[in-house]
Amino acid sequence: MTHATALPTAAAHAFLAHCRTLLGDAHVLTRDGEMEPYLTDWRGRFTGSALAVLRPGSVQQVADTVRACAQWRVPIVPQGGKTGLVLGSVPDGTGTAIVLSLARLDRIRNVDPFNRTITVDAGCILQIVQQAAQEHGCLFPLSLAAEGSCTIGGNLATNAGGTAVLRYGNMRELCLGLEVVTPQGELWDGLRALRKDNTGYDLRDLYIGAEGTLGIITGAVLKLYPQPKACITALAALPSPEAALDLLKLAQDRCGASLTGFELMSAFCLHLVRTQFPQLPQPFTAAHPQYVLLELSSSESETHAVALLEHTIGAALERHIIADAVVATSIAQSQSLWQLREHIPLAQAKAGKNIKHDISLPVSSIPAFIAQTAPRLQQAFPGCQLVCFGHLGDGNLHFNVAPPDGIGHDAFLANQAEVNRLVHDAVDHFDGSISAEHGIGALKRDELARYKSPLELNLMRAIKQALDPHNIMNPGKIL
Ligand SMILES: Cc1cc2nc3c(=O)[nH]c(=O)nc-3n(C[C@H](O)[C@H](O)[C@H](O)COP(=O)(O)OP(=O)(O)OC[C@H]3O[C@@H](n4cnc5c(N)ncnc54)[C@H](O)[C@@H]3O)c2cc1C
Repeated sequence: MTHATALPTAAAHAFLAHCRTLLGDAHVLTRDGEMEPYLTDWRGRFTGSALAVLRPGSVQQVADTVRACAQWRVPIVPQGGKTGLVLGSVPDGTGTAIVLSLARLDRIRNVDPFNRTITVDAGCILQIVQQAAQEHGCLFPLSLAAEGSCTIGGNLATNAGGTAVLRYGNMRELCLGLEVVTPQGELWDGLRALRKDNTGYDLRDLYIGAEGTLGIITGAVLKLYPQPKACITALAALPSPEAALDLLKLAQDRCGASLTGFELMSAFCLHLVRTQFPQLPQPFTAAHPQYVLLELSSSESETHAVALLEHTIGAALERHIIADAVVATSIAQSQSLWQLREHIPLAQAKAGKNIKHDISLPVSSIPAFIAQTAPRLQQAFPGCQLVCFGHLGDGNLHFNVAPPDGIGHDAFLANQAEVNRLVHDAVDHFDGSISAEHGIGALKRDELARYKSPLELNLMRAIKQALDPHNIMNPGKIL
């Protein structure tokens, strides 16, 4: 695979002059100050450098810009809301690439409540898409804490998950059609609003999750669902991850597709939230080893949802699966329970840096994984603190490791490679994945090379070579 080298100065000037004729001066940013917000990653841990930041305002301008990049062999880093957590949407430090921001492509193109689809530009903010669906009496179910900033293009490129995957699936399951600009600057119109379409290789699925390494997504047809009549939340206290698994099975058996959320949180997670956000009420006076936040949606009525949830909780208490539980009886109470879950990442950030893992495992293996891996971490890094929470229903854990009390966060981060190795080896042992929902980007590229089989890596490289032979699409990411 060829790698781009810096353009000679004259060629760089010619390329940028051409971009200005395509996009107008205001949308070709080259000064350090104006480019800086596009170059630093969400967590503020890395700042790259770029030849320019380009901000096309239409699909045609995206295609024209990519054609220019192909002609001058300028690498392209596609960027949406820049909320990705694996350094996928920021350039490296060489200054050879352009950042292509999709932020100005923000039109809702069409809502079809009868086909239950919405067609949008890739730069649309997720929350705006949710609201547009709601205005038509429909639900677009992708929901995540970054929804006020992240874009549909970024959600598709990372195959984002979120809190309702258990019921509605990842972004891949929520997408019917795509519009993509290829690395040669051609426009593929795959905006088909079909639920059945078996006409050869599924190109759409190639671009979803490709993190901008195969082409630029400019538009998408997404699935809509009926708005549930009611959403009811409960928080249960449990003795162990095994009990959480028992509760999941019980809730799925009894509630079926009505179970839309099932989030696990360890005692230490809620302790962190209590310490960093003492104003947030916590419903239990006694401490318990684990907690589960359950959410049920009903297409019938609130009474139906409450009855279903209360019966499920009652059965779990009777069988001693859970020790205690509260069921929210108002939207405010439900929001306050969700706030506990949503404040875990914020509490971690306030407490200081830690070593993060976004992993997935077969759901049934999660208790054994935790039981084996937590003591190994303690043995290797005595006193380290495990911040273990996540979408248990999807087999997805955020398995983060914070320093022992009294050890500086930066000093502990020096152990990152060893901690990653211990955790990822354990994930591999249980046939899990080292990236459940955040992707690979530049951050986990070496880890991917370690854990994917040589055959799988070769097949991925063959696809990349076929679609992007000059390696201009987000080079250095994934592969
Ligand atoms: C507070 C917080 C909570 C989060 N929670 C979740 C969660 O629950 N579940 C989850 O899955 N993720 C979560 N994430 C990470 C998640 O990946 C992003 O929030 C989101 O999907 C990225 O969208 P974005 O528009 O910000 O993409 P960016 O960060 O801009 O880009 C992400 C990747 O997609 C590529 N890309 C962007 N736009 C395009 C395009 N139009 N065409 C081709 N490639 C493109 C970029 O090059 C990059 O590789 C969270 C992040 C934060 C900060």
